Amino acid sequence: MDNQTIAARLEELAALYDLAGASAYSVRAYRRAAELIRSLPAPAAELVQQGRVRELRGIGGSIEARLRELVETGRLAEVDELRTEVQPELVAVARLAGLAPKRMVELGRALGVTTVDELREAVAAGRLREAAGIGPATEAKVRAALERPRAEPRRGLTLNRAWELVGGIAHALGGVAAGDPRRFRDTSHRLAVVVAADDPDEALARFAALPEVVALVERGERRALGVTVEGVPIEVVAPPPARLGTELVRATGSSAYIEALGDLPAGATEEEVYALLGIPFLPPELREEPYREAPPVLVELQDIRGDLHVHTTWSDGKASVLEMAEAARSLGYEYVAICDHTRNVRVVPGLDADDLRRQGEEIAAVNERLAPFRVLRGSECDILDDGTLDLPDDVLAELDWVQASVHAGQRQSADRLTKRTLAAVEHPAVRSISHPQGRILNHRPPNAVDLEAVYAACAETGTALETNGLPDRIDLSAELVRDAVRAGVRITCSTDAHSVRGLSNMRLSVGTARRGWCTAEDVLSTRPLVEVLSRTRGR
Ligand SMILES: [Zn+2]
Ligand SMILES: [Zn+2]
Repeated sequence: MDNQTIAARLEELAALYDLAGASAYSVRAYRRAAELIRSLPAPAAELVQQGRVRELRGIGGSIEARLRELVETGRLAEVDELRTEVQPELVAVARLAGLAPKRMVELGRALGVTTVDELREAVAAGRLREAAGIGPATEAKVRAALERPRAEPRRGLTLNRAWELVGGIAHALGGVAAGDPRRFRDTSHRLAVVVAADDPDEALARFAALPEVVALVERGERRALGVTVEGVPIEVVAPPPARLGTELVRATGSSAYIEALGDLPAGATEEEVYALLGIPFLPPELREEPYREAPPVLVELQDIRGDLHVHTTWSDGKASVLEMAEAARSLGYEYVAICDHTRNVRVVPGLDADDLRRQGEEIAAVNERLAPFRVLRGSECDILDDGTLDLPDDVLAELDWVQASVHAGQRQSADRLTKRTLAAVEHPAVRSISHPQGRILNHRPPNAVDLEAVYAACAETGTALETNGLPDRIDLSAELVRDAVRAGVRITCSTDAHSVRGLSNMRLSVGTARRGWCTAEDVLSTRPLVEVLSRTRGR
């Protein structure tokens, strides 16, 4: 049993616990264990067999017992029990229809139905109104959800969640992940997997049997729409192998982009389809607006030489300087900048001048140990209300790399936020501005800072702007990265990692830069260390 499969089963259990009203704590513990196992480089099944799985952070006795059962028997008895108890199919349809899951489960009980097909029959027979408390409005919603299911989740999925879902399903089916995540949209509305199949029935049956997919709400000859227990719809397309490229192009591009291509020729690969169309291949990240020219050579993950914004246990990170540095080195990087918080953030521990000097000694020791790899002494320094920085200038001047961040006062007027940000951009020690818009996807809108003014000042001073790889930030967004680069600003692709695992979000930051049309030259963190340390202007 591979890690993806184990992770999917744990996720399923977590979702069922959630539905059964288990404590939020245990739901989270299982979700985290699933994430951990998905990202594990070694086979988890072997660790379980060797009795070593508890060495992993966050895996306790009860999760270990479930893992052993899963590895030894291939299933979880509790999943089967919970499935009959909480009826995930009905819950999924409820969420798809925008109804309270509990109400749908009650409805199911009153009508004696447990599956989507049975529910469909009950609706067709007009039996819904037999159930107490079901009025015409609810009936209409259920009917609509079953007849014309929404193909989009109610709220966009962040990149990590979207990739987990489509990536996991693509892996299980031997297909390719497509839809919005393949274009690295910061929130995904269309989730799709394309799998080449001589026998589409078999492929779609395997899709329906996946633990992530609790119900099929639509089923065609070569296409199905499944829904997760959270009510997230996922489309699977199963073309014959000779049309895989065609359907992949169709399932990846925005509708505006696909429409502009006209009729799509049959091709086994995307390259073939583009050749038949007579236009240059376009990387998925750029398939947003109609475009038929040769694209620039976009930055790639392998071009990145270092991560310029990571945290350690000195502030709110989970790993030490040495652990973060070793992990960065094992990713093939040449340098990493330790940028812990300063005192002003308050909600988490921050460093003052003395702390930073002591941290400097630790960094020097790590540098001796890991040379020629370089750990940069850095800071994620708060920009205070008056635009000054949260560390004295002499301390800032000692550092190799300073990120400046607005953390407090995100709701201030455009004027104030812009003044604060510009003061930081113009400070001689500041090298990059972190998460410039301060947005949290699905929670906090972008702040009102005047980015045109910021771009101009950055181009003038050589200060860079970050595209932050935390999945709920992705800030700057791709569209703004493009504007910044056009204005002559260098971009830093950074993860803002608070753990070793967080370093893997570089993929999201680079995906965003690609979506923002960045070449390697546009991204400062693709440059050798000497160039990073000497302030160079954008192009
Ligand atoms: Zn920050
Ligand atoms: Zn940070």
